[in-house]
Amino acid sequence: MHVSDNIRDLEPSATLAVTTLCKAMREQGREVIDLSAGEPDFRTPDFAAQAGIAAIVQGFTHYTPVAGVPALRNLIAEDLAHQHGCATDPAGVVVTAGAKHALFNACFTLFGPGDEVLIPGPYWTSYPELVKLARATPVIVPSTLDSGFKTVPADLDEARTENTRGLLLNSPNNPTGAVYSRDEMEALFRWAADNDVTIISDEIYARICFNDVRAAGALDMDPALLENVVVVGGASKAFAMTGWRLGFSYSEPALASRMTALQSHVMSGISTPTQYAGMAVFRQEPRVEHAVRAMVGVFRHRRERLVSAFRKNLPQAAFAMPEGAFYLFFRIDPFFNDTARDSISFCSWLLEKTGVALVPGRAFGDDRFARLSFAAPEDEIVEGVQRIAEVLSVSVLRD
Ligand code: PMP
Ligand code: GLU
Repeated sequence: MHVSDNIRDLEPSATLAVTTLCKAMREQGREVIDLSAGEPDFRTPDFAAQAGIAAIVQGFTHYTPVAGVPALRNLIAEDLAHQHGCATDPAGVVVTAGAKHALFNACFTLFGPGDEVLIPGPYWTSYPELVKLARATPVIVPSTLDSGFKTVPADLDEARTENTRGLLLNSPNNPTGAVYSRDEMEALFRWAADNDVTIISDEIYARICFNDVRAAGALDMDPALLENVVVVGGASKAFAMTGWRLGFSYSEPALASRMTALQSHVMSGISTPTQYAGMAVFRQEPRVEHAVRAMVGVFRHRRERLVSAFRKNLPQAAFAMPEGAFYLFFRIDPFFNDTARDSISFCSWLLEKTGVALVPGRAFGDDRFARLSFAAPEDEIVEGVQRIAEVLSVSVLRD
């Protein structure tokens, strides 16, 4: 079969692949503890679901403007203004089919052949592929566990060339859970402004933050630093709405228009009922706050249990304490053996032996790690860690 160079080297999403595998195994009657999935295990808040249903029943089922229903764009702009205490312009909002789609729009609109885009590693699995789809070159800037998996301007200086055009930031981070402070972020934004580099700031986990009500974001920075910035957000994580496909980008209106033109040819406006459901969540209402805080409270509690179970039962598995999102990214190389010699063979071996599914670190650029999602019921997390600890201490003892 002939396929074009556009996608010849494209890898399918490893995160989605493991989750699909788990679902297939369950359908075959196998018992699986799925700690791979990067999606909240909660129901979408009822008021959002009802808003979507009402839209269908009332006949809001036709095309909308490409960048989204004006009322939703207004609400998203107001919500950003409220979250960050800054002025925003609804003309800068483009409503997209999930945050992933906003990232695609931004990469495809901003980058092209010959451009290099810096991606701090470990990184979310889709970033390098999204950059490659724009025929630009991803340049990974590794960070270490000792630095809390955070990138600093000196790292970027080392990776920068005259072709560097972009930087993909993600805080709270998938897969490490790292959260940049406002000052740490400002240093990166200053570096980008000084070096004429555009930042795409993926803030999809902004509200899933354990030490504060939300993580620092691009719109907390000095407005002078925001000319070349695209903020990406959405409802998937904070509102357990992954399947609705509701994301957005926020940028200068001129760039938003360009991304809208791209979207007008590949997607049109996103699903209309989804946009109406979105109008129920991007609001400063007590029920919205309550829904987010309740979920984050559960994630925080699970994190405590998970971390203490790891410290007690798997002391060799080093990790950085996740400060946001819902992942634990931990070292697995102390457990490698003849069968499990890298992250992919290790995770397959573990799934076979214990029925516990994790995502191999290679999907995030580091083969010495695996990612465990704590967006799963607490009893499954506890049982999963127990099974991992049992099989690993047995095999470690045997080695
Ligand atoms: N960015 C990051 C860091 C993610 O983990 C994900 C995973 N869902 C996305 C973007 C995409 O989100 P969405 O489902 O809204 O497309
Ligand atoms: N972002 C989630 C994850 O990392 C969902 C799957 C995906 O879109 O990659 O697992």
